[in-house]
Amino acid sequence: MRIGIDLGGTKIEGIVLDGSHERARIRIDTPRDDYEATLDAIVALIANLETTAGTAATVGIGIPGTIATSGLVKNANSTWLIGRPLRRDLEARLGRSVRIANDANCFAMSEAADGAAARAEVVFGVIVGTGTGAGIVVRGQVLTGANGIAGEWGHNALPWPDDDERPGPACYCGKSGCIETFLSGPGMTTDHERSTGRRELPREIASSADRGERGAVATIERYERRMARALASVINLLDPDIIVLGGGMSKIDRLYDNVPRLWAQWVFAATGEAPDVRTRLARAKHGDASGVRGAAWLWEASEALK
Ligand SMILES: [Zn+2]
Repeated sequence: MRIGIDLGGTKIEGIVLDGSHERARIRIDTPRDDYEATLDAIVALIANLETTAGTAATVGIGIPGTIATSGLVKNANSTWLIGRPLRRDLEARLGRSVRIANDANCFAMSEAADGAAARAEVVFGVIVGTGTGAGIVVRGQVLTGANGIAGEWGHNALPWPDDDERPGPACYCGKSGCIETFLSGPGMTTDHERSTGRRELPREIASSADRGERGAVATIERYERRMARALASVINLLDPDIIVLGGGMSKIDRLYDNVPRLWAQWVFAATGEAPDVRTRLARAKHGDASGVRGAAWLWEASEALK
């Protein structure tokens, strides 16, 4: 049995997985701004899950941030975790080993274990929503990296920019023209407003485009070209078998046909024809549950690929 915990800024969700089958699920409020109370809440949640499942289980935790090589949490939206030795403190309280990964890595892990990328050897999992995060799974193992940031390409510059995409929108990270400023939901809203004067949410823009509204179609086409370039640069570096999209923007159906048709223009040694590139683009299977499922799969994940 595997327990997965998704430590969010407002909710902590926990599940017990028996293979791919969910045996229990509990959701509680996050004790905001209180590190000790957050530790207590996680420990109590694990005890409840094990009581419900009737057995002890391994524990994997997904957090909205990264664990530095020092073992301390950094870059977390939940600021009260920053600089804290979360894994060490939880292991001390639980009396056993705990695995922790950031939420994008958990997403990639979940889809690689028993989701849209099941049995694929190299998986690039992207969450495109309010931000743009990504994780890499190779042969069933999350690739963490020397700095704990493997897969985080959202703050690279948009590759092969058109003249009107330079220097690009300012990003909160301090740079301009980051991939995230174009591909996130707020990025699409801002781009659409710049060209049409109308401020709309991505799902409104996508449904207007489906009805053939010209400004919306143009916004979605710009978005597809940008996503194609951003992912072509990933293919050139990592050459994954599959790229899985999650998050709010992954609900735009036309991306799955149009982006792979476009990305061949920038993939090295491709002739410009889509079938030339074997990498597939797929929508996440587990949707919003990917974080908590992926956390559970941090243990013995490679078993799932056999
Ligand atoms: Zn940035």
